[in-house]
Amino acid sequence: MGINPVFFSGGLSCIDFCNTLDYLRTPPRYDLFWNAAALLEWGQAAGILPADLPDAAIPDEAAFARALEIRATLARLLLSFTRLETPDAADFALFNSYLQETSARMGLVFTDSKGYFLACGSDDPLEKVLCEAVRSTADLLLSNQIGRVKQCEECGWLFYDTTRNRSRRWCDMKSCGNRAKARRHYGRVRQGLKQD
Ligand SMILES: [Zn+2]
Repeated sequence: MGINPVFFSGGLSCIDFCNTLDYLRTPPRYDLFWNAAALLEWGQAAGILPADLPDAAIPDEAAFARALEIRATLARLLLSFTRLETPDAADFALFNSYLQETSARMGLVFTDSKGYFLACGSDDPLEKVLCEAVRSTADLLLSNQIGRVKQCEECGWLFYDTTRNRSRRWCDMKSCGNRAKARRHYGRVRQGLKQD
């Protein structure tokens, strides 16, 4: 069974990486990384990993736990940006340690379709996924577009707002946007107010 494409609608790979966990609720209603193999499946669906992976590629428990820790740190960083807060110093230091580790494995690659881009040179699929999540976060920080990272007012998902005036409020207009509008509409009807 494939992963619902909505999980890849965040606009940046670091955002999609963080949206794999329902971090707003305890316990979370879903976690796409429910085990190490599931994390690699997500990496394949995200286009970071090739479709054919050897069974031996499944990471061990320690490597998997570290991946979850990295996801939690990146999510806290991104959430602090949505609130226009300065990131927690400890999280920022952790991020820099991830960046140093993954940078040592990254190199420039050229393809006709994408031009030059930074890619992970490691053969370890888990490292490839983590490299991409960390690289994407660093790119975001360097882009001066952190204000475009937002949290959906309806479901709490993170998304990257590409609208010119940064006015997007929902992860997806068709689902969350319509739900919010319908609720407001019925609220107005209930109050006997004229709808606009
Ligand atoms: Zn939403």
